[in-house]
Amino acid sequence: MIVMKFGGTSNKDAHAISNVAEIIRAHRGRNPVVVISAIAQATNMLERAGRAAENGDTAEARKVIEELFERHFAILDALIHDKARRSELECYMKTSFDELSSLIQGVAIVRECTPRTTDAFCSYGELLSSRLVAATLLETGTGSQWLDTRDFMVTDDHYTSALPVMDQIRERLEPLVRRAQESHLIPVTQGFIGVTSAGIRTTMGRESSDYSASIIGAVLKAEEIQIWTDVDGVLTADPGVVPGAKKVRELSFGQAFDISYFGAKVLHPHTMLPAIEQNIPVRIYNSRNPRSTGTLVTGSLDQKRSMIKSISYKKGIVLASITPHRRSGQYMFWDQVFNILTKYNIPVYLVGTSDIKIILALEAKYLSENLTSDLSGIGNLHVCGERGLITLVGEAIASSGTIPAQIFRALEGNPVSLFSFGASPSSINIVVEERSVENSVRRLHDEFFAADRGSDVFEAVSG
Ligand code: ASP
Ligand code: MG
Repeated sequence: MIVMKFGGTSNKDAHAISNVAEIIRAHRGRNPVVVISAIAQATNMLERAGRAAENGDTAEARKVIEELFERHFAILDALIHDKARRSELECYMKTSFDELSSLIQGVAIVRECTPRTTDAFCSYGELLSSRLVAATLLETGTGSQWLDTRDFMVTDDHYTSALPVMDQIRERLEPLVRRAQESHLIPVTQGFIGVTSAGIRTTMGRESSDYSASIIGAVLKAEEIQIWTDVDGVLTADPGVVPGAKKVRELSFGQAFDISYFGAKVLHPHTMLPAIEQNIPVRIYNSRNPRSTGTLVTGSLDQKRSMIKSISYKKGIVLASITPHRRSGQYMFWDQVFNILTKYNIPVYLVGTSDIKIILALEAKYLSENLTSDLSGIGNLHVCGERGLITLVGEAIASSGTIPAQIFRALEGNPVSLFSFGASPSSINIVVEERSVENSVRRLHDEFFAADRGSDVFEAVSG
């Protein structure tokens, strides 16, 4: 059994969805379970409708969902010709549209779109797209069964960033999939959305359909989790910044985690966790170029050479440095700092210390008034904004005698605000000025990837 997940750009219109159906058919022999994202931009539109309703602008909210439904109806129109199937889907879409209209009305009256309501809005994207894919498979003679995540994807109630309850998911999903497969039907379900044990819709965070696929793969002990996207695999850098970026053929779980955690968009950072637990290989494939071999992420990568494989970046970083009011002892001060970070659930990318002072690299969006006021309570807080974090991910980095020197040579003239080497065996973090991020990434890419090194590791992308 394998899990195949298709992202929003892979489903963006009728042409894309019939391509998805073809790819699924080609893998029929491996017993796929299919996980579908909303069509491209749908989740953004649903969020936008929710916000407009919250502002009392029901006309705008309705306009957005009308546009969204037009796109879904256009897909239906182009792909589904069987009369009964067509009218069943039309009916489903109309009901969904009416539900969303009521939701808009309700939100506009109370003028509040809570995280729970946002999840209710957003769930429609995946519900509709997965219906369309399941119906398209049937239309072309491939048996499929639509599964509602409401029946199995149990999560906690942290709306907009819910976490799965693995035991319950396993218990509920296994029999559903078994029954479908015994009847030779391909199960088709939704990424991103879940349900609390009380039956309320949740989502696991933006872009989390990859994570859904990996959860499903882990509970079903799949032999492979396939993430179908719109690039050939994990690349050596963001191709928007480095047009000559190459595809990386293989990565370890840890490297793939670092690449996504530190900014690459190709995978949701949580994706690796369930896969690691069950040691299930993850393949990243391009739905526009299905013949490409993609990138394979495994737990058994055996490479001994020191090398950089990919460069990620994140903008919108700040450096917060805190010097204690009183020199009460280093560990007591650090304890205070980390207690405050825990209190507000603040993820910190990098920590530096000098003497007793502590410096933290975190996303600017987390620098709330409460956090600044608490930190200022224990020390002098100095914030340096407009920074970017660049992360080089690779193999046997810590044992390399040349990589740090190469980095500083490549970045000569671009000020480095913070640098971390040795904390992780597979990554190096560098904080630079935000405006020099692109230039720094290009220079680093030139330094590490310009020479055509080892075609066993990298490969040109299909373009
Ligand atoms: N549709 C959701 C989003 O756009 C989830 C996903 O695509 O992974 O965030
Ligand atoms: Mg994605």
